[in-house]
Amino acid sequence: SDTIHLTRGLPVPQGISKPAFLAAIDDLKSALGAEHVQLNDTEIKNGWYMEHPNTHDMMPLFDFEEFVASAVVYPSCVAEVQMIVRWANKHLIPIFPISMGRNLGYGGAAPRVRGSVTIDLGKRMAKILSINEDDFTCLVEPGVSFYALHEELQRRGLGDKMWIDTPDLGGGSVVGNTVDRGVGYTPYGDHWACHSGLEVVLPGPDAQVLRTGMGALGVGGENTWQCFPYGFGPYSDGIFSQSNFGIVTKMGMTLMPNPGGFESFMYTFPNESDLAPLMEIIRPLRISNILENVAQLRHGLQTLSVKGHPRTKYYSGFGPMPDAIVRTELEKTATGACAWVYYGMSYGPAPIRKLKLDLIDSAFKQIRGAKKIDPATLPADEYFWSRDRIASGTPDLEELKWVNWMPNGAHAAFSPVSPIRGADATKLYELAKKRHMEAGIDLMPAFCVGLREMHLIVEIVYDAADAGMRRRAEKCLRDMIDDAAALGYGEYRTHIALMDQVAGTYSWNDHALMKFNNQLKDSLDPNGILAPGRCGIWPQRYRNRGWEL
Ligand code: ADP
Repeated sequence: SDTIHLTRGLPVPQGISKPAFLAAIDDLKSALGAEHVQLNDTEIKNGWYMEHPNTHDMMPLFDFEEFVASAVVYPSCVAEVQMIVRWANKHLIPIFPISMGRNLGYGGAAPRVRGSVTIDLGKRMAKILSINEDDFTCLVEPGVSFYALHEELQRRGLGDKMWIDTPDLGGGSVVGNTVDRGVGYTPYGDHWACHSGLEVVLPGPDAQVLRTGMGALGVGGENTWQCFPYGFGPYSDGIFSQSNFGIVTKMGMTLMPNPGGFESFMYTFPNESDLAPLMEIIRPLRISNILENVAQLRHGLQTLSVKGHPRTKYYSGFGPMPDAIVRTELEKTATGACAWVYYGMSYGPAPIRKLKLDLIDSAFKQIRGAKKIDPATLPADEYFWSRDRIASGTPDLEELKWVNWMPNGAHAAFSPVSPIRGADATKLYELAKKRHMEAGIDLMPAFCVGLREMHLIVEIVYDAADAGMRRRAEKCLRDMIDDAAALGYGEYRTHIALMDQVAGTYSWNDHALMKFNNQLKDSLDPNGILAPGRCGIWPQRYRNRGWEL
């Protein structure tokens, strides 16, 4: 099942004949070198996380061949990216830029339009251009992963001085994750808020390149590009995140000073009904930074699934695994039987940590039956230590384990945002529970508490080889998106297959925001070549012609 034969043949982009497309590809080969252009005409391959494909989504919600690239190109520099953009404009071929393409759960490397030519920026543009020890900043190209940045800090002997912030899985691109507004778990967890300065190739026929913020200064502004994100005039960075308005070729990022100590903590809460009062306790602590990091409140089932065993080890029945079984199984583990587990970290030297940890302890213990688990009692392979590494800026891969829950395990997320309130948490949890029950799918919610909001991340783990289960997963996701929208909640990010639906929920004042996005799209990308449909934004050539899903 690792090799997939393309039964539908070469996915030639719609609107161009196969001979014309092949001739255009030959043009590109002679410009870039034939070895840097690869055609997907017979088969595509799956791999595991670190050897993921760049041609398609290895965790598809639809058929493997639905969101698949016709070719992949590997530019080595900004000038070559510009050349590819001009080429796409000339031939009206859709292009889809990825940094590393590990966007698993949201579409992986797959383009939204079948047959797009994927620009894999990460393979040959992977330089750490600078690390500034005085300002605690860096400037990176799209191919720099969280692992690579972390390793480079260690190599230069700066690992003790400064930290990176990493998402749950460290193999992704710093640029890719940040422009998709991903999060990590140190106090620098809001990656987008922590970036400073972009270099962008625009999608128009002339493929202009611009720098944002201080980088726009006539001499290049390198001295302050990574220190001050805004520059002068409109703040343009925002339109290059979660969009299809430009190709990011460089990005500045801030690094966190080593806080002088850190300490993970874990609390368990016995009852499902503890969720609402707990949120009321978490909110003021988080907003006042006593709880200092993007912390997670996870359902007990997730603590079980991350052990890496298939669900059939515990239960083989159809439908969500009964709570009683989850509790019995957890009873045998370090957390004990519980409904919720909170993972957090306190930063700073010991006396400073103690003040904060004591406040947290007395607040959390207002919940009857709340337990603090002593880390000293936990074995080295306990998931807690993975959270400990991540929250202290060390990339990790443990989080992959829960994909083993199903055979051919794939996952896709429902990710609504809400205030940190008991009532909101309860409403979202209840609607997710109802829809999972109907779909016969295990519910694995995690509340990721930002500062004044939380992302509820509900990962559906499904068997990618089981078409029936894929359809149930898709229906469950779509129902939750609609239910949440009706209650006033929207998603912060979504799978490529669901982008039209999610974009459609941001409809205030007769879709004024989408009209604005469309206007920008048509002006910046008049030929509609860059990532059509991404985040629900369709260029004029495609709009209202049946592409929306
Ligand atoms: P990661 O490997 O970190 O998960 P990806 O490379 O998959 O990140 O990026 C996630 C999404 O963000 C991509 O599907 C793409 O649409 C967009 N993206 C990533 N890198 C760029 C870039 N350099 N310029 C424009 N869009 C990008």
